[in-house]
Amino acid sequence: MRAYKNFKMVDVKAGKVVENCVILVEGEYFKEVGADVDIPEGVETVDLVGKTVLPGIIDAHIHSLSDGSADPHKVREEENDAFTIVKAVRNMEKTLQSGVTHIRGMGASNFYDLGLRDAEKAGFLSGPRMQVSGRCITMTGGHGYKEGREADGTAEVRKAAREQLKAGVDVVKIMATGGVMTRGVEPGSPQLTEEEIRAAVEEAHKAGRKTATHAQGTEGIKNAVRAGIDSVEHGIFLDKEVVEMMAERGTFLVATLVAPYWIVEYGVENGVPEFAVEKSKKLIDDHMNSFRMAKEAGVKIAMGTDAGTPFNKHGKNTYELKKMVEAGMTPLEAVQAATLGGAELLEVEDVLGSIEAGKYADMVVVDGNPLDNVEDVFNVEAVYKAGSLVAGTC
Ligand SMILES: [Zn+2]
Repeated sequence: MRAYKNFKMVDVKAGKVVENCVILVEGEYFKEVGADVDIPEGVETVDLVGKTVLPGIIDAHIHSLSDGSADPHKVREEENDAFTIVKAVRNMEKTLQSGVTHIRGMGASNFYDLGLRDAEKAGFLSGPRMQVSGRCITMTGGHGYKEGREADGTAEVRKAAREQLKAGVDVVKIMATGGVMTRGVEPGSPQLTEEEIRAAVEEAHKAGRKTATHAQGTEGIKNAVRAGIDSVEHGIFLDKEVVEMMAERGTFLVATLVAPYWIVEYGVENGVPEFAVEKSKKLIDDHMNSFRMAKEAGVKIAMGTDAGTPFNKHGKNTYELKKMVEAGMTPLEAVQAATLGGAELLEVEDVLGSIEAGKYADMVVVDGNPLDNVEDVFNVEAVYKAGSLVAGTC
């Protein structure tokens, strides 16, 4: 057993900070947590005075095989697969070191994301736990078609979903609209139809799996929500009707506010393809406003970054919390979205998402207090995953 004392603990469930907290960790799990916990005699004790402890962060939208370079698709096409995979391993190490102990991979070629997931589970890779979607299902010529599974009509989309499930994905991802990173495709335009999306959703749900959609334009988002999708990724052009639909149905929003932000921030002068920069510039204000509208309507929100897109580097994931605060969340709400929200969406809330007795001892020790200044979430001093120190020195 190990004890930790003298720190502030963010109790995400109660929505408050516990001062002078004590945590007892036994093996992989939290054993006792609270201000009134006695430390048994002889137990190794770590004094974390001046620090704040958060639950392990959950990033519900990343691309492990994309490297966050200026033009990741071009890099991916030109390099040897083994090189890509070795870099992906490094990306996952950096992600874990930033405090992210669970991710959801939202699309990768050749099912390599399943291999990474299994390697982590088997102890060959020091990264976050992973849920992955395999190949995204997109219409012929639709967003992400080069790496995705093109399918048209309900029968073919159904088959494509079954193929993903057969391969062993945790979540089925479809493309309801165009996007930024595919040349010649408009982010606002609807792509797979409501009927096509419903076929994929039915297959995933029958198999006990969730569904997610890349969805940027309003009409495509509505198609996906009506078809029963579990999460809307990006959600750039939301309106009052769709946020009300999402709130009523419990559909999650995973906004990935940092994705267009980094594209515009670095721009063409740093090598980002001009078409991606131009599209991002046009939508960035709507994206922030949509997030605010969804939050105010009571839509469930999980934190996701789209890490791997241009200059959206693995390991910078928690920058999304800063953007969520800029878009109207309190720092506490941003931390809740990045812990409890992700845990609920990924259906791991019985073992992750908060610091409670019986859950995996995943925790992030930061200097300062992110609830006072959200940027303190970047001051990572130590990361624990299932009770083991995986980054830092505490
Ligand atoms: Zn993505």
